[in-house]
Amino acid sequence: MARYLDVATRDALVLRMRFYRDLGLTELYRRPVDPALLEQWETAAAGPEQQAEATERAGPQMAGQPTLGEAGTTSRAAASEPPRATSQANLSAEEAMSARKAQFSSPMIAPEVAPAGRAAALEIIREEIGDCTRCALHKGRNKLVFGDGSATARLMFVGEGPGADEDAQGIPFVGKAGQLLNNMIAAMGLTREEVYIANVVKCRPPGNRTPEPEEGATCSPFLFRQIDVVRPQVLVALGATAATYLLGARQPLAGLRGRVHAVRGTQLIVTYHPAYLLRDPRQKKEAWADLQIAMRELGLKPPGKG
Ligand code: URA
Repeated sequence: MARYLDVATRDALVLRMRFYRDLGLTELYRRPVDPALLEQWETAAAGPEQQAEATERAGPQMAGQPTLGEAGTTSRAAASEPPRATSQANLSAEEAMSARKAQFSSPMIAPEVAPAGRAAALEIIREEIGDCTRCALHKGRNKLVFGDGSATARLMFVGEGPGADEDAQGIPFVGKAGQLLNNMIAAMGLTREEVYIANVVKCRPPGNRTPEPEEGATCSPFLFRQIDVVRPQVLVALGATAATYLLGARQPLAGLRGRVHAVRGTQLIVTYHPAYLLRDPRQKKEAWADLQIAMRELGLKPPGKG
């Protein structure tokens, strides 16, 4: 029987295929699916009425068959259970852990783009994002905030998500936190035009809340692609959310600061978010120490020190 994809799934698949093509992956194959398992899958995704109907249709042999786990593997534990809904509450500890990990997983590193083509490559990513409605954040958006700065920057800053000023102007870090970031950049002996700045999510979360895992997981692949195009020598994660998505795991900021991490072929330094520094200016000294690590990796001397 012919099966058709709904429009949203088809669009998502088209975007995913374009992404693979951009990565240089063009050879793909389709694994044949056992029709009986497919039916079980669909039943698990359906409501209770359809489930009862399908169980009746399948007859008594279906009750003892294993169900498919999250990643399409056969789950032994589920062998004697009815198909399960995949809400966090119903997942085993192991499954919940792998679901959490998946939220923070990052795509393969894209092939290098020659410096002369980087601005155009960023433009392609921006076009692909388009008038995005992939997650709920689009509903409160005025302007999508893609990124700002040099496409060939040696230093890139990653924040969490746009605030009110950024949402109004469509440019990252233009509010009070942005002014502090500008001062931090100047203290490093650089100009804002020389660095690149982007966020984990490109639309403002309501009330400036932390992006939900689903929002971050939906949007962060575009950030990873921006990083792969710009190929900065040093990345600076501003705050815990940026660090979490860049490192692929949630860890306390205190344990991440003060050292160099390896991420997507570049060096990552983790420091405080400027908004936090505005609330607690005593931590600016600590942030400056982090930025000096970045400067050391870039071979930069503090201004006024020759
Ligand atoms: N905070 C962020 O994390 N990003 C911005 O662009 C502005 C404020």
